[in-house]
Amino acid sequence: MALSGLDIFKLLPKTNCKKCGQPTCLAFAMALAQKKVGLDQCPDASAQARETLAAAAAPPMRLIKFGTGLAEAKTGQETVLFRHEEKFHSPTVVAITMPDTLDGAALKSRAETIKAFAFERIGQQMPIGAVAVMNSSGDAAKFAAAAEAAKTTGKALILLTDKPDALQAALAKVKDTLPLVGAATDATAAAMAKLAADAKCPLIARAPDLEAMAALTEKIKAAGCDNLVLWLDAPDGWAEMTGLTLARKLALKKNFRPLGYPTIAFAAKGKPEDQIVRATSLVCKYGGIVVIDTVEPWALLALLTSRQNLYTDPQKPVQVEPKLYSVGEAGPDSPLLFTTNFSLTYYTVESDVEAARIPSWILCVDTEGTSVLTSYSGDKLNEKVVAKAMKAANVESVVKHRKLIIPGYVAVMSGKLEEETGWEIMVGPRESSVIPRYLREVWPTK
Ligand code: SF4
Repeated sequence: MALSGLDIFKLLPKTNCKKCGQPTCLAFAMALAQKKVGLDQCPDASAQARETLAAAAAPPMRLIKFGTGLAEAKTGQETVLFRHEEKFHSPTVVAITMPDTLDGAALKSRAETIKAFAFERIGQQMPIGAVAVMNSSGDAAKFAAAAEAAKTTGKALILLTDKPDALQAALAKVKDTLPLVGAATDATAAAMAKLAADAKCPLIARAPDLEAMAALTEKIKAAGCDNLVLWLDAPDGWAEMTGLTLARKLALKKNFRPLGYPTIAFAAKGKPEDQIVRATSLVCKYGGIVVIDTVEPWALLALLTSRQNLYTDPQKPVQVEPKLYSVGEAGPDSPLLFTTNFSLTYYTVESDVEAARIPSWILCVDTEGTSVLTSYSGDKLNEKVVAKAMKAANVESVVKHRKLIIPGYVAVMSGKLEEETGWEIMVGPRESSVIPRYLREVWPTK
């Protein structure tokens, strides 16, 4: 939590010696509060002042990284309780289980399935972030074998066991991937913390309630491990959800350091649809990592879509680069449509044009990432904007005809657009889903 100028002043020597270049300690404190100067400019600041100010400057929730290279996963460093206050920073890491009760062939097959997942929506990749290797067997050798199989996915790894010897065996195989490891309980805190610290890996702390969790994180910290992820192993879903919410509040609003870490939560039991409902709730509040068991693509897609929606910046609509796009092998006789550069709008139109199976051009007009109706009502979309986009994309040399299909919702601008461009304006359907039928009717191919 940021300190005020007066809070900082209380920590300074108050000698007004001017060595910092400021006329008084108070002036220096005020400048420091506004981040115009650094504490190192006061040579006489005490060690306690330095420590207090460093602690105050630290983010209220740690950023935890695990995995390496392209597989690196990040969680934490959130600053707000609600998305509309600013934005959420670290999209929930979705992890899929790899139980060590599977035999060799099944482990290989599951690893291949996870590795092959590639989801994309509105032009953005939606990755599965990690594989959670579960020591369900309780056997150290099986756990190590499952960890090795999980490594072949190329994803960040989470090693989950309550046995330090099993963790040691798995770490011996995959330590180079910098996995997230755990889970340390009150009984295993010292042993788990040592293993995590030696391997330079972040550690999961597991406790049944927040009081026990705060005590546990302090204990692990004292054992030399401060890169933590919290697993609130509450007795039921309601206790978990309220606990996760309270932990976030205490970390961000009260700067309560023992809970200032991201969380991991589990939705790995039950039917795929039940897992996804629960996982989606956990994405909303406040699972930094959510572990599921299902590998059903339809279920994963629903979860990843929810995550994508929550983790966009509410102040910056997701945009597509405004330019001319070819759908299929479009040529000089292909239809030309325009839409706006709001990602959801553009990709909906693009997929409907694709469904028509008529190669086409889509002119994506810059409306600052707003939809057709929103941009038209805000005057970000008018005949001059469209004419300018046509000129910039040089559509005159791209198509031989002089026909432009416009969204049905802005049929009202067709007259002015015709005057502005000299092109024939064809009013397309209001709903994008009607585009395939519309195109087949108005633009029959030979
Ligand atoms: Fe005060 Fe330190 Fe500046 Fe001297 S150098 S005036 S002690 S803040």
